[in-house]
Amino acid sequence: MDVGKLFGLDKLDGILGRIERRPLRLYEGQCLRERDRTVECESCASHCPVDAIDLDSKVEVDFEACIDCGICVRLCPAGVFESRLSEDTFLGKIQQKLDDSDAIGFSCAKQLEEYGREGSFPQVELPCLGRLTETMLVGAAAFGAKNIWLDLRGCEECDCAVGALLAKDLVVAIDRLLEAWDHQVEFSLAAAPPELAQGATEAESAPAGETEEYDRRELLTKFGREMLAGGLGLAEGRIDRVANVFDPPSDEYFTYRLPRRRELFLRLTKKIGGPEKKVILADGLPFYGLELDHHLCNFCGNCATFCPTKALELESKELTAELKFTLSRCLGCDLCLEVCRPDALKSAPRIDLGDIFAERTGSLSEQQYYKCEKCKQPFASATERELCDFCRLREEKLQDDSWS
Ligand code: SF4
Repeated sequence: MDVGKLFGLDKLDGILGRIERRPLRLYEGQCLRERDRTVECESCASHCPVDAIDLDSKVEVDFEACIDCGICVRLCPAGVFESRLSEDTFLGKIQQKLDDSDAIGFSCAKQLEEYGREGSFPQVELPCLGRLTETMLVGAAAFGAKNIWLDLRGCEECDCAVGALLAKDLVVAIDRLLEAWDHQVEFSLAAAPPELAQGATEAESAPAGETEEYDRRELLTKFGREMLAGGLGLAEGRIDRVANVFDPPSDEYFTYRLPRRRELFLRLTKKIGGPEKKVILADGLPFYGLELDHHLCNFCGNCATFCPTKALELESKELTAELKFTLSRCLGCDLCLEVCRPDALKSAPRIDLGDIFAERTGSLSEQQYYKCEKCKQPFASATERELCDFCRLREEKLQDDSWS
């Protein structure tokens, strides 16, 4: 008798097989709409080229329709989507290409199939150019790329043309960021690779249409050791992720989670080196500053409770409370601005690169606590009111109602 069949293991195997083949893992509890029902974000669904994302009840993906382009992975400001083709995998490929060259190109699978590979630019294959992330571009710079080509062959006619538009915007932003970082890289956005300046290292040309296959053990050894040596500090336990495995599922639905992509991005910026202090315009960059009007903040802690990455934290001390902000952890989802009832928070137009490089946590405000006369809950107030906001509003409402 087949013991596996008896216990239904054959069916279980089939189910696991189907789950395994899913290109994405979803952290639904990170979705901004799920954390606050008033939020209207639909970045993922509105950019999905095959309408595979449904936001009606909670974020859901139709895996039959999904073409695994990775645009949702790139765009979601809360890190809801994690792709089986992880950031680590792409960084491994980027680093491998840059072993023998200081030029690198980013192409999609369709481009490589239709037009082949270009000799002077070792190309990293993405599912779509829309999957390109700031981590990959900064990673390429950190691994020694002097020339980066964004392959735009055939993009205008492609059904996923939105992917190329997103990639172009990203390249412009990262170009500006690297310049501010005093790190020189030539970017080219074109349907052909640029002529390399004399002296630039050219790589061996790969045969047209060659698919990139990596021996897992080789990649783990090479990437893991070199990342460790390069100061990226990937612990041995995490290197397994290069093999495209997702994090083990968590029991908690609403978590505070810094996406792996951001984690790597911060480590790679360190590898480039950074200024102790350099204030630049935040516009378009993957960094977001915050300002607080401490006259309006009542220290309700909503912003810290809702923040998906713990970029904001409220620390209660004996007599005071402090609202802290770690710029490097902020993904710019703006959820804190939405949930701040007194409108005390707003985006800061400028950011300090030094804060990012040092992953510094700054204080937005520290205030004395008062005890609400009515509910006895602690609250902060610059105007020394006797009631917390909640009780004050209720009193006002009761007074209004008594006149009507
Ligand atoms: S982009 Fe992310 S946060 Fe926005 S709706 Fe989609 S899953 Fe939710």
